[in-house]
Amino acid sequence: MVYYLNEIESKNLLKNLRPLTRKVGVSEDLRGWNWNRTPLSPYRPVLLPMYLICSNYCPTSRDLYLKRVEKRRGEWNHPLSLGKVIHDTVARAYTLAREGEFDVPFDDWYRMQRYEDYMKGNLPLIQTYARMVYDYILSQARSQFNVAMSSHPFSAKRDMLLASVPFLVEHTINGELLGCSSVLSIDCYDYLHNIIFDLKVGGNRDETHRLQPAGYALVFESIYEIPVDIGGTVYLWFQNNQLIARKDLFPIGDHLRSWWLEMRDRRAELVHEERDPGMPAECPPSCIYRSVCGV
Ligand code: SF4
Repeated sequence: MVYYLNEIESKNLLKNLRPLTRKVGVSEDLRGWNWNRTPLSPYRPVLLPMYLICSNYCPTSRDLYLKRVEKRRGEWNHPLSLGKVIHDTVARAYTLAREGEFDVPFDDWYRMQRYEDYMKGNLPLIQTYARMVYDYILSQARSQFNVAMSSHPFSAKRDMLLASVPFLVEHTINGELLGCSSVLSIDCYDYLHNIIFDLKVGGNRDETHRLQPAGYALVFESIYEIPVDIGGTVYLWFQNNQLIARKDLFPIGDHLRSWWLEMRDRRAELVHEERDPGMPAECPPSCIYRSVCGV
């Protein structure tokens, strides 16, 4: 799977999500191309990265204050290291697949990243997991490519690669029109299904995870003026040495768009006012600012 839809997801997309988005639609005021008017136009001169608008791991958003007002850095820990390596690996594997390079060894590339110079955590385990993801993606992409070639034997290889690996990974886009950073990186845009995906490493589903694809859809609309009505969160995790992947596919409708705008405005306000929101009653064990906050 990863970014490919399985049989059930395809049926859900075609029989439920697409008809629903066509029927319900999206209010014109909430399309990204109307970035220059209310409610989309940012009312504070603050540009934020998407993860700081959408993240919910600090209950009071003190992570945002520390990062943007006090310019503090968090510390690497195992979950952060695992997340970064898996994102890099997924991007690397799909980039190779899109070029038809299905047999490039993993180890040379991994060594060149020099993760051990700055990351913390169980690095041998992270490397093992990364190799699993890499092999999985390339073998699946190769299989999809072979199916495409055998179905269209007279087509050009390049055409079949574009059709069988239809993913722009780590697609760079400018979010300034909507109060986001000038360099945003979308985990994946599936251009055949017109879906924006966000990748999460871990199996815990959370409604707030839908915010990030919604934010990227708005930015995408602001730049390309193409409607994006469906988003997806891909969850990857590891259990008993097995890679597990699940997807949450959902419409990017008015409710989600309004929620994202509310989050953007609230967080831009916090940064603009340079207001320390204080400590929550409880801090998650994986927070990268624990030593900064003294917990
Ligand atoms: S340690 Fe607690 S207060 Fe500080 S950023 Fe993390 S969750 Fe927020």
